[in-house]
Amino acid sequence: MSLRDVLVVGGGPAGSRAAEVMASAGLDVLVLDRKKEIGSPNHCGEGLSEDCLAEIGADSRAEWIVHEVQGSRIHFPNGSWIDFPKRGFSVRRPELDRFLASRAIGAGAEFRTGVRVRSIERLGESWRVQSSSGSFEGRILLGAGGALCPVAHFLGQRSPRIPACQFKFPAREIMGDQSGKRLHFFHHEMYRGGYAWAFHRGEELAVGAGGVGRPPAMVEFLCRQLGIDPATRRIVEGGPIPFLEHPLQIVFDRALLCGDAGGFIHPLTKGGIHGAVWSGRLAGEAVLRAFESGGDLSDLSSFEGMVSGHISRSASELRIPRAFLRFDNEIVNAIGEVMNGRVYTDLPVGNFLRVALKNLKPRTLWGLGVGIAVRRSYRRSERFTW
Ligand SMILES: Cc1cc2nc3c(=O)[nH]c(=O)nc-3n(C[C@H](O)[C@H](O)[C@H](O)COP(=O)(O)OP(=O)(O)OC[C@H]3O[C@@H](n4cnc5c(N)ncnc54)[C@H](O)[C@@H]3O)c2cc1C
Repeated sequence: MSLRDVLVVGGGPAGSRAAEVMASAGLDVLVLDRKKEIGSPNHCGEGLSEDCLAEIGADSRAEWIVHEVQGSRIHFPNGSWIDFPKRGFSVRRPELDRFLASRAIGAGAEFRTGVRVRSIERLGESWRVQSSSGSFEGRILLGAGGALCPVAHFLGQRSPRIPACQFKFPAREIMGDQSGKRLHFFHHEMYRGGYAWAFHRGEELAVGAGGVGRPPAMVEFLCRQLGIDPATRRIVEGGPIPFLEHPLQIVFDRALLCGDAGGFIHPLTKGGIHGAVWSGRLAGEAVLRAFESGGDLSDLSSFEGMVSGHISRSASELRIPRAFLRFDNEIVNAIGEVMNGRVYTDLPVGNFLRVALKNLKPRTLWGLGVGIAVRRSYRRSERFTW
């Protein structure tokens, strides 16, 4: 068994991006993934922002792009809505993952698929992982195994998670919008701690939800509201999403965590592809620095500074979405009423005072205060929202 420079567990966006950076600089990189084919099955709503496309370094004619999206609209139970005009794309996520993996392979990284990592062991100055296909050794271990990453678990970083799932149907009109130029999101007490969505995707429509509870029941609820028979779905897909209570430890002696494994998800939107490719690239660069500095591989601390600007690294920002767990329809409707028909950056003070005076209950006033904190947090971290 040869000793590799870096073992990467997980060939999703984070692992592939890190592998590409390290292999391009000449390191001997082995990526292990339990999936037989990288990217399949899909576990994503497949929305990707323009900022993320730039981070990937691809152009908008990439074959895994379904179409362009001009922004998002959030709908509230009372019919009010808020617009988020950030541009992006609907993508075919399995193809995106394979595109990123093929770039890493082109740079010289080796991928082994259908390999499930079962346990991890520290051997003096290296690591050994036991898998369904034997054992592998590396001088540095990179945990990029997503929300259930075995490396993160071995290193004691278990984040709470919420489940999410989506159904896919043949294309049809929803919310009076046939163009697919807008992503539609829905807040309702049914999706406690999360939200639901409906995305046009060319030939198909994806309807999904995540939150505390049973996501399939949440998706069925939204389908009925949209006038869609859930039994006509063609595909069901989904997975867990980290719901962090505090920033995770991401730097260890000869090991790093990136992507969902390191908690690099946006805590308000739960968008994580951007955080994954970004943190994967920076993890790769931090490993390169350690190799280039003459061999002290135990010090990977530069990674911490490189990623300190991500919203998931701030304990106070992570506290805000926890309030969503206590939101009911009265609160979300009050927020919708204040902002109705606006872009999220506007704050109509007159409306705010009118709605606050009309709802003089401590819970609703607290909810309106959280709404303002959410708006501020979103503004600060807009780059990583999706
Ligand atoms: C239903 C749903 C919808 C979402 N929608 C969006 C969206 O529209 N936009 C967005 O930006 N984000 C979305 N996300 C979040 C996004 O999918 C993740 O943030 C992103 O996939 C993180 O990338 P990653 O590389 O860190 O992890 P992953 O993509 O999860 O990749 C991890 C890889 O590790 C492998 N692995 C795991 N365990 C092992 C093991 N024991 N042995 C070997 N390999 C292993 C897995 O097979 C996988 O390939 C969504 C998530 C869910 C669940």
